[in-house]
Amino acid sequence: MIPDRKTRTIHVRDLPIGGSAPIAVQSMAATRTQDIPATLRQVHLLEEAGADLVRIAIDSKADVEALATIRAQTKARLSVDLQENYRLAALVAPFVDKLRYNPGHLHHHEKDKPVAEKVGFLVGVAKEHGLALRIGVNAGSIAPEYRLRYPDDQLEALVRSAADHCALVDAHGFSEYVVSIKDSDPRTVIDANLRFAELRPDVPLHLGVTEAGMPPDGVIKTRIAFEQLLSRGIGDTLRVSLTVPFDDKGMEIAVGRELIDDISNGRFRSVPPNFFDGLNIVACPSCSRVENNRFVDLAQDVKEMTAFATDHDLTIAVMGCRVNGPGETDDADLGLWCGPTTVNLKRGEEELGAFSYDEILGELRTALERLIAERETA
Ligand code: SF4
Repeated sequence: MIPDRKTRTIHVRDLPIGGSAPIAVQSMAATRTQDIPATLRQVHLLEEAGADLVRIAIDSKADVEALATIRAQTKARLSVDLQENYRLAALVAPFVDKLRYNPGHLHHHEKDKPVAEKVGFLVGVAKEHGLALRIGVNAGSIAPEYRLRYPDDQLEALVRSAADHCALVDAHGFSEYVVSIKDSDPRTVIDANLRFAELRPDVPLHLGVTEAGMPPDGVIKTRIAFEQLLSRGIGDTLRVSLTVPFDDKGMEIAVGRELIDDISNGRFRSVPPNFFDGLNIVACPSCSRVENNRFVDLAQDVKEMTAFATDHDLTIAVMGCRVNGPGETDDADLGLWCGPTTVNLKRGEEELGAFSYDEILGELRTALERLIAERETA
């Protein structure tokens, strides 16, 4: 039931991705990168669960030093997630097999430097060290120029950003890359990947529903997207993003493999009736950048506390850090993003304040009740 894919085959060290290669399953360490024993345990846990590739977040030189130690103690294929400081690529390159950059984060550093030059730098690093690249576009962090160019068409902004970055990388004669286009809504993931695959059928795709949240809803959202895409021969590697404690991260790999197996064997599940109606909780899967270890419990508490509002068509986003939290909560009706000692509460793009971890549920409930009351009287 998974047709032949038309993409070219690239390699992450010895792992082929694309073309006729098996669909690779990957995940990301949720531990602090500088907590070397914990991150090594996380890498081993994911490997034992069957991960083909493990991603690690790197934001500082101290993270790079930790990565060097981790690299020396594991043979796992490692990928690094670069966020705002793209130049860290040169430092991490000796220790990894793949680099992921987000086109939406390249404007943060060296603002006057053309994006093409920054991409050229990343490609140069990848070539020099024999690494693969991922161009990872996210709906919550679309590059400002694409948001301006397509103010009313998020899908086109996502797809054009990805396609233009492919062209920038192609211009350097480099083809060892994959693309991902992610959103927390599986319908956007389906539409964006279908549109991109028409434009660039040669480029391997990394599939994922980002911030899918807690099981079982997070698994259902992911299944909806993967069934529609993999059954059309779209998708060469994938990650299932679930908000679970880091000791349970193997679940992401197990669910990914189960979905591939089900879709390969024609075992499709119909979408539960009215799945997209009512309250939607979006939550990030957590990573090294989580600001407070209470994040996963907080996401679960939010789900339980808001159960009274299940019938209301609202989205509440719960994010673990300041790197992606502020942007990725903009589209939610109510958003929370975690700081070290406080949680920031937003209503749409409006900041409502920062509250302690003990206060935040009460504040969220007040904001939610007010929002529901306003809608009912509107
Ligand atoms: Fe990591 Fe922050 Fe993204 Fe959560 S929102 S997965 S903590 S980068």
